[in-house]
Amino acid sequence: MSVTGISPVNCPPGTKLHILNLGTLQADEGFLVRGGIQRRDLISIAVLINRPHAGLVLFETGCAEDIDTQWGIPMTGVFPRTEYKEEHKLPNAIRKAGYDIGNVKGVIFGHLHVDHAGGLEHFMGTDVPIYVHELEFKLACWAVATNADRGVYLANYLRSSRPFQAIALHHAPGHTPGLCIMQVNLEKDGTIICTTDQYHVKENHLDKVPQGWLAREHDDWVRSAAMVDKLQRLFNARLLYGHDKEVAEMSINEKAYFE
Ligand SMILES: [Zn+2]
Repeated sequence: MSVTGISPVNCPPGTKLHILNLGTLQADEGFLVRGGIQRRDLISIAVLINRPHAGLVLFETGCAEDIDTQWGIPMTGVFPRTEYKEEHKLPNAIRKAGYDIGNVKGVIFGHLHVDHAGGLEHFMGTDVPIYVHELEFKLACWAVATNADRGVYLANYLRSSRPFQAIALHHAPGHTPGLCIMQVNLEKDGTIICTTDQYHVKENHLDKVPQGWLAREHDDWVRSAAMVDKLQRLFNARLLYGHDKEVAEMSINEKAYFE
């Protein structure tokens, strides 16, 4: 794993990348794209990578199972769940892909907002290493301790550890200061970039519509967008956005896994 912006080596043959559907939320579009005025369904996803001889790595974890307890009001009213069946629970989604959550060897976070880091609850009391940018971890601790950015972070327990090969994390500040996107170069399907919430939905990327009310540092976000564009051109990459239901479902329905 690299956070230097250096691109990864290619994944070894046999690597499989699964996109997990963790259910849907709904939000005012104004949170996601500047000027948005409608309600919009948002998918919650995680990405599971099975590396030959090295095991499973999970990129992000979706929401907690019980958001009424973990989030409470007003967050559950602002971002209500619209679809959450048994199959959308993280352990079940991993099982549906053919694996057991108990075999996950590490969890990487693009950022730590509640709708991405809630699934950490399944790793409580384990020694599974958790990877997140230092800035993101510091901000999450500060935001929770001071209530300065109330609601969007959960108090969680994180640490960083040894690197993974063939997975690059590129620091892409803007949505949050420590946000990292993940780049995976697969043998047959080429490069996949998981943008987490650098781009909530495709309009943020394809139409260059800035983020809405969830944006924090716009200038940083624009610089990060230029970096993502460059990576996409260099690697002819497929992008997975943080919450774009249509794009995620298209990729999920396209094939069981990318390799
Ligand atoms: Zn999000």
